[in-house]
Amino acid sequence: MEIKDFVCTGCALLCDDIGVKTNGNTIEETYNTCRKGAARIRGDKERLKCTIKGKEETIYNAIGEAAAILSGAKKPLIYGFGNSTLETQEKAIELAASLNAYLDDTSSFCQGPVVEAILEGKVPTCTLDDVRHQADVSLFWGCDPANSHPRHLSRFSYFPRGEKRQRGWEDDRTAIVIDVRKSDTAEICNKHFYSIPPGSDGELVEALTSALTGKIPKVSFNMSSKEILELANLLKKAEFGAIFVGLGLVYSLPQIEPILKLIEALNKSSNFHLIPMVGQYNMRGFDHLLFEKTGYINRVKFDGEKVDHGPHCSVMEVLNSDKADAALVIGSDPLGSFPKSIAEKLETIPTILIDPARNFTSTVADVTIPSAYSGTETGGTAIRMDGERIELTPFFDSEYLSDEEILTRILEAL
Ligand code: SF4
Repeated sequence: MEIKDFVCTGCALLCDDIGVKTNGNTIEETYNTCRKGAARIRGDKERLKCTIKGKEETIYNAIGEAAAILSGAKKPLIYGFGNSTLETQEKAIELAASLNAYLDDTSSFCQGPVVEAILEGKVPTCTLDDVRHQADVSLFWGCDPANSHPRHLSRFSYFPRGEKRQRGWEDDRTAIVIDVRKSDTAEICNKHFYSIPPGSDGELVEALTSALTGKIPKVSFNMSSKEILELANLLKKAEFGAIFVGLGLVYSLPQIEPILKLIEALNKSSNFHLIPMVGQYNMRGFDHLLFEKTGYINRVKFDGEKVDHGPHCSVMEVLNSDKADAALVIGSDPLGSFPKSIAEKLETIPTILIDPARNFTSTVADVTIPSAYSGTETGGTAIRMDGERIELTPFFDSEYLSDEEILTRILEAL
């Protein structure tokens, strides 16, 4: 029995202080994980089987069938990647370019605008280690890290002692929550919880920006000008501040620009940074990689040397308007997460799924190919929610191929 060091891929915090006690290929114990991470490491879900049209097949035949579907398609769609390493994502981009395919990931309907603004240098950002060592004010807006990223507050943003925050949360840190409900994070930061009605985030962003520029702020809901001014002052006085942007905020705003203006107004007297609360462990990695290669973070269509980009290339639009004639899904479950009317479109075109575990999409896919769990059974590199590169070291030998290897074989078979 031995204890191995390990990086957890349960969420985009990519905790790198995890210990796993193994006995052969059995996990005896995990150390430092939250419950979410422990479930991910144990791989509790039922493994995917290798199938063609619902019948079990050899991996060799399934890869051959996948290659035949993709090479016979005129406009294939390739989608997923939040739970894939950078190496797999790179292979998928190569495959999409060789097939003139549509290529997209979950960021096109979640944190994409925030990551894009950071990559384009439109807003200051920082690392989570900067937050641990320097932040005196953290604002959680439209997110609940106590449940979505359970070790966020203890490792980085609230409880830890840091170089400049030796007295931790008791004296040195202020955590603020703005949300539509009193979440578990809001319970922890009870003193500075601001409850707002759904869809009113934009109004509060504008009101705070007004308050910071010397105007009397007003909102249409139950929050007085005095309360808004107090909140603006709390933010203004921060030596080092971080705003953690959750999906509640992103979904509430048609555009990200008002947040950028708020940060600009704050930074006339303070020092604030934006960090997206990315969910899947390497969603941000895909955005970085595609940005490096094409100048876009998502929603592209390859066409020879050219790359088309825009809402018309998004996975939702491509499926909704029947533009794709085949789909390859990697490490994702669109059938379980998309609106029903759009997810059902996958049943009308040949669909291939590569994933370690069974999910809703596997029930309609024409070809299913099981892959190793990245992080536990296969290694690689990922980008944490704050943009830091993290190496993943597997601690099990796996009988399954990595998704990178499966894509390599599909490319060779085309
Ligand atoms: S916070 Fe996220 S990365 Fe850290 S142990 Fe929990 S699930 Fe894993």
